[in-house]
Amino acid sequence: MTTTFMMLSESKKSSKKVFHEAKPNYFDPIEKALTHLVKMTTLELEHLSTHDVLTGLYNRHEYLKTIRNKIKNAQRYKEEFGLILVDIDYFKLVNDNYGHKIGDEVLKKFAQTLQKNIRENDFIARWGGEEFIIVTSHTDVSALEKIVKKLQKAIKKIHVGPVKKISASFGLTVYNEGDTDEEMFKRIDNSLYAAKQNGRDCYVIG
Ligand code: GH3
Ligand code: MG
Ligand code: MG
Repeated sequence: MTTTFMMLSESKKSSKKVFHEAKPNYFDPIEKALTHLVKMTTLELEHLSTHDVLTGLYNRHEYLKTIRNKIKNAQRYKEEFGLILVDIDYFKLVNDNYGHKIGDEVLKKFAQTLQKNIRENDFIARWGGEEFIIVTSHTDVSALEKIVKKLQKAIKKIHVGPVKKISASFGLTVYNEGDTDEEMFKRIDNSLYAAKQNGRDCYVIG
């Protein structure tokens, strides 16, 4: 006989419980089905809490965890790293001219393009809307520029249905000793703003 407990809590403190799939017991398919259901639902919820549903990239919360770890490592091991904020130019026009569905497809394709053109141990997340954030490992300013030029080239090739041409603006920075994540973000945010002011489709280093 199997008893399944489903627990809900309104308290901010929730304890995570991992359910393991039962060893196959061919006499009790219901037990097997229930434990499998709980396991799959747990995995799905875990994925939902760390990823963006539309693009499949990590979400802002995971970015914050990553950057804080990266800063700790940089302090401890003098590791260089870079940070890039990317914002699609005039994206509102894509929605206005072709509708939200096409807009969503462009966002998905744009996310895939960024992901494909960074290295495996770099990190990318959807910051929100049409903005993405990338943490690049072992990167100084000249390496950071190379990465962005590669991204710009790949973005130029994006075609989604009627959308034949898109561009993006970039704010870049590298870690400086003593930086906090907020200070680094302020620099890339200001640089991105400057890139937009400079006419878009360009990058500014802060
Ligand atoms: P700029 O060059 O200054 O960045 O102009 P922009 O049009 O890209 O910037 P703005 O902030 O005015 O517009 C961003 C648009 O992105 C508005 C919003 O509706 C759209 N957007 C945000 N998230 C999503 C999404 O998940 N799907 C779709 N289709 N559109 C989205
Ligand atoms: Mg924006
Ligand atoms: Mg934009």
